[in-house]
Amino acid sequence: MPELRRDPIIGRWVIIAKERGKRPCDFVIEKEKTKGGFCPLCPGHENTTPNEVLAYGRPPGAPPNSPGWTLRVVPNKYPALVVEGELDKRGEGMYDKMNGIGAHEVIIETPNHNETIPMMSHDQLIQLFWAYRDRIVDLSRDIRFRYVIVFKNFGRAAGASLEHSHSQLIALPIVPHRIQEEIQGSLKYYEYKERCVFCDIIRQERSQNIRIVCENDEFIAICPFTPRAPFEMWVMPKKHHSSYISMEDYQYHALTDLFSETMQRLDRALPRVPYNYMLHTAPLRTPDLEHYHWHIEIMPKLTMIAGFEWGTGFYINPTPPEEAARFLRDITLD
Ligand SMILES: [Zn+2]
Ligand SMILES: [Zn+2]
Ligand SMILES: [Zn+2]
Repeated sequence: MPELRRDPIIGRWVIIAKERGKRPCDFVIEKEKTKGGFCPLCPGHENTTPNEVLAYGRPPGAPPNSPGWTLRVVPNKYPALVVEGELDKRGEGMYDKMNGIGAHEVIIETPNHNETIPMMSHDQLIQLFWAYRDRIVDLSRDIRFRYVIVFKNFGRAAGASLEHSHSQLIALPIVPHRIQEEIQGSLKYYEYKERCVFCDIIRQERSQNIRIVCENDEFIAICPFTPRAPFEMWVMPKKHHSSYISMEDYQYHALTDLFSETMQRLDRALPRVPYNYMLHTAPLRTPDLEHYHWHIEIMPKLTMIAGFEWGTGFYINPTPPEEAARFLRDITLD
């Protein structure tokens, strides 16, 4: 019997199609064609990107936009939003509008063209988490921006147009609806129970121990009770923090280790599966919230969003999260 499940944070329903019970081998992952050819993100091609806004790893005194970097952040050449200008909020009859002001940046995660996240060393991967932090801190000084969404598209099917491993961020003049939903949903839960819903989820998952993928002292990766897609995972800090940028150094190290393990498990279960991940954190310049808890949502791209999902806003998932977590947990890593 399929099961309807309700997400305790935003109240979204999903359908877990238990009888389909799709295992990793039941999904056909289209092999990406390696395009080869010119890569604008590779070292030596720095002049083909807009001027960098951040770079790590070059020796002191080396000029910007030159090789020798280990991570580099550049404005997107084809931005969804533009940095210059005023918001100019206005009306058109009953409709409200404003200018498309924002920042759209590309984080080039490694100088090595073929290196993917599960292949990265601790030292390489932690730079990515520092870069997310440095950019959010910097962009939060621009008072036109209310939110920075950090995300990654991996693989063509998940929206990546370049092969070279990269993430993106977009600074927005509004708090996106998805985030508002989570914040309002978790506030409702907090008003009722006086506890953070995410902290409660972590507590319950640790006591049930059927949807945990892996954990260390500071972080946990679970397949959520109401996954929208097969093998969806959430990575959360075990200590309550509403903002990604407010953690201590050692916590970013622990995040790096746990995230690396999570992505290695996913890559072993479903080699080179296309995926998206999104970093959900509190809006910019918000004091610590007791009801909200930052996290990363990882969404492998194995199913299609079709009429039913568009029409209802709920999802059919052929892989129960309990089974997905078991597959991922049982994988032996060297
Ligand atoms: Zn490249
Ligand atoms: Zn919490
Ligand atoms: Zn979220």
